[in-house]
Amino acid sequence: MSAPPKLCLAIVGGGIGGLALAVAISRLKIEETVCVDIYEAAAKLTQVGAGITLWPRGWEILKDLGLEDDLAAYVNPGQELPSRKKRGLAFCLRKSDSADNVMISDMSFPGGSVAIHRADVQQVLLNHISPRVCIHLNKRLVSHFESANGVQLTFKDGTTASCDLLVGADGVNSVVRKGLLAKAYNLSEAKAAEEARPLWTGTIVYRSLISSDVIKHQIPEHPCLKKPMVYCGKNKHIVSYPVSQGKLINIVAFVSWPEKEGTFLEGPAVINPTSDVVSSFFTNWSAEVKCITDNMVQPSRWAIETVKPLDKYAVGRVAVLGDAAHAMPTHLGNGAGQAIEDGYILAHILTKASQSGPLNTEKVASLYTTIRQPFGNFAAKASMIQGHHYEFSTPDFNDVGDGDSVSRERLLAVEKRITDGWEWTWNSSIRGDLQRALEVA
Ligand SMILES: Cc1cc2nc3c(=O)[nH]c(=O)nc-3n(C[C@H](O)[C@H](O)[C@H](O)COP(=O)(O)OP(=O)(O)OC[C@H]3O[C@@H](n4cnc5c(N)ncnc54)[C@H](O)[C@@H]3O)c2cc1C
Repeated sequence: MSAPPKLCLAIVGGGIGGLALAVAISRLKIEETVCVDIYEAAAKLTQVGAGITLWPRGWEILKDLGLEDDLAAYVNPGQELPSRKKRGLAFCLRKSDSADNVMISDMSFPGGSVAIHRADVQQVLLNHISPRVCIHLNKRLVSHFESANGVQLTFKDGTTASCDLLVGADGVNSVVRKGLLAKAYNLSEAKAAEEARPLWTGTIVYRSLISSDVIKHQIPEHPCLKKPMVYCGKNKHIVSYPVSQGKLINIVAFVSWPEKEGTFLEGPAVINPTSDVVSSFFTNWSAEVKCITDNMVQPSRWAIETVKPLDKYAVGRVAVLGDAAHAMPTHLGNGAGQAIEDGYILAHILTKASQSGPLNTEKVASLYTTIRQPFGNFAAKASMIQGHHYEFSTPDFNDVGDGDSVSRERLLAVEKRITDGWEWTWNSSIRGDLQRALEVA
């Protein structure tokens, strides 16, 4: 007797979200009953950019996926792994848009956080994907068509493929999201494209990795060499932290035009590298900041984009995860963490659902949305709000201009809001969501 046909799952996009789904599937051994193909547009799986920060909530998943030891090898010397049992320094917050660095707070959170180069995270994920998962490079999805029997995928090179379930892990400009919106709301292609188009937050970021030796040479005791720093100011801020075992400093410099929030971006979202001079935005800032910005040579420039909140993360045979579902500003350092959560939950739902006969894709779609949509949308909104606190751009700071001094009392109020904004990253867990998903699947 021949074996029953395997269910075919197509993951479009081999970024952190797509790979995390593939790792979770591999870990759950579902790939023995499900064929998994990853279709990635790029010719090579590489992560542009630099570091990502991971928090207890996301770390718990990576640990459960068996990645903790491998990831630990990339952690900076002296940095502890996230654990809810102890408090750890999250970052040192300073108001620095004048000659002084005004102390706001050294913020330590239960569980702490860990910063790892994104290429290292990606390599660890790749190392844990079952060899049964097929990775196809140079496959840019241009459209998909869903019928009662499955989903037909069409790629830019003219080739096609089919699957029973399509997961769009194809980032903020997701082609899959557009198709999902068209189907869910019966939209024309033009209307779906407009609805799916990313929205600019009004912020651009400059990203660089600077050799620690360069900073050390200029300011031997520069705090960014050892500690995660956030330098705040009116409509601008800088985040820095050491990566690659302290040999490099990951810098992200944010420059915002609040009146542009929610508009469509004109021009490219990423320019890599740009000849823009970052220090020209920070001329009146502290010496510590200027030491950083002066050394950002040919940084990459990223416009921070989001998507309109989706009501559903899956419809019929099509689901989206990660930035394709809920692209968020970087201010809570959680876009990748949330993509990992999506992949983890979806893999568990799929595993459980496929163990009880033919897969009911409608049920999978509905359950995945029920569990993940509220949290993903919450994290995206919370990230947006957090950025306003760093840049004194909430309405109650309208009176504060570039470089103005701010009373200690008001700075402490900002500190409190920022702490509250992070709270869910350590005081909530994916466990409850997973349990709910498994009870119903
Ligand atoms: C400056 C900056 C700092 C950040 N810092 C953090 C942080 O500290 N912590 C954190 O958790 N998150 C952080 N993020 C967010 C995080 O990088 C993203 O949320 C995360 O990478 C999303 O993963 P993803 O897999 O959904 O999408 P992506 O990483 O964008 O991957 C999408 C993949 O799909 C491929 N693709 C796209 N279109 C197609 C197509 N049509 N067909 C086939 N393949 C396609 C792409 O080539 C890519 O490989 C940061 C983001 C930025 C910009």
